[in-house]
Amino acid sequence: MTRLTRPDLDGLPNYVPGRNPADLARELGLPEAVKLASNEVPYGPLPGVMEALAEAATAVHRYPDMGVLELRHALAERHEVSPDRIATGCGSVALAEHVVRTTCLPGDEIVYAWRSFEAYPIISATTGAASVQVPNTAEHGHDLPAMAAAVTDRTRLVLVCNPNNPTGTSVRRAELEALLDAVPETTLVVLDEAYREFVTDPAVPDGLVEYGDRPNVAVLRTFSKAWGLAGLRIGFLVAQPEVAAAVRRVVTPFSTSSLAQAAALAALRAVDEMRRRADLVIAERERLTTAVRKVVPEAPDSQANFVWLPLGERALPFGQACEARGVIVRPFPGEGVRVTVGKPAENDAFLAAAEAALR
Ligand code: PMP
Repeated sequence: MTRLTRPDLDGLPNYVPGRNPADLARELGLPEAVKLASNEVPYGPLPGVMEALAEAATAVHRYPDMGVLELRHALAERHEVSPDRIATGCGSVALAEHVVRTTCLPGDEIVYAWRSFEAYPIISATTGAASVQVPNTAEHGHDLPAMAAAVTDRTRLVLVCNPNNPTGTSVRRAELEALLDAVPETTLVVLDEAYREFVTDPAVPDGLVEYGDRPNVAVLRTFSKAWGLAGLRIGFLVAQPEVAAAVRRVVTPFSTSSLAQAAALAALRAVDEMRRRADLVIAERERLTTAVRKVVPEAPDSQANFVWLPLGERALPFGQACEARGVIVRPFPGEGVRVTVGKPAENDAFLAAAEAALR
């Protein structure tokens, strides 16, 4: 057949979504399966969200507010920045893609740690930019000095995933500051803080509060994790006004849907409940980490809502063994397994499956 698509995309890894638990339960003949594969918070939509959605649903024959004004103002107030510094999008992953599109031309370079968020190589490749992947340290975290050293005059973008997906590791204030000081002012540093609400270590900086005012820093946040809106697809970027405006210019028109805008506004009003649930996740994360280390002692500390098991070649069979026991986790073949922190009973089901799998 005549080739219609770009051959360079053939080698791209596919983004792997978690398996559907209802399908697995049916396959195994179990009443239900547990899904700990996609880093969602397990407690349902925040209070007020479903009502806001029902109300917004009455107007879905209209296009959304393309300027996302009310939500951008609410976010601006919460984060004490001006609304012209904010862009919203169809998940923070879309914003990462838009940032790449606004900064990189074919042949430019994007520096990021590896292993990190699986979308980075995909969105880099689709713009024709070259991925410069800097291997993680032996402790599974970003090697920031090596990342700084990898910056060349072709580097348009440095992506820092903090905490890092999938390893849960995080970068500390002093090392991040050293990187920011080392990167030239013509290179944008994107701090991807999708898991910020789960950070408890005071040495891990809030990029928005501490570095958001630097001219060449942009921060990505999402409503998908702690705010419980993964299915609605909404995230935001905070950057200097020129960068935010450039991102708003390339955003797919109307891609922050009216339902997403209404739900995000309602979620922001439920901030106390968000905090309470995030704290439950954090307490479970600590319990899960302690228990996991009995079978996988090298599991690193996590500041996110998941735990990383660096199982190497055992990752895939371990993931399959958990799945056979009705627990869906996320194996990265040859590297490790990421386990999302669920409700206590779900975590117990995982721990039982893990112990059986490793026995
Ligand atoms: N950044 C990181 C580090 C993530 O792990 C994820 C979700 N897996 C995202 C961004 C994207 O989240 P969303 O598009 O749902 O906002």
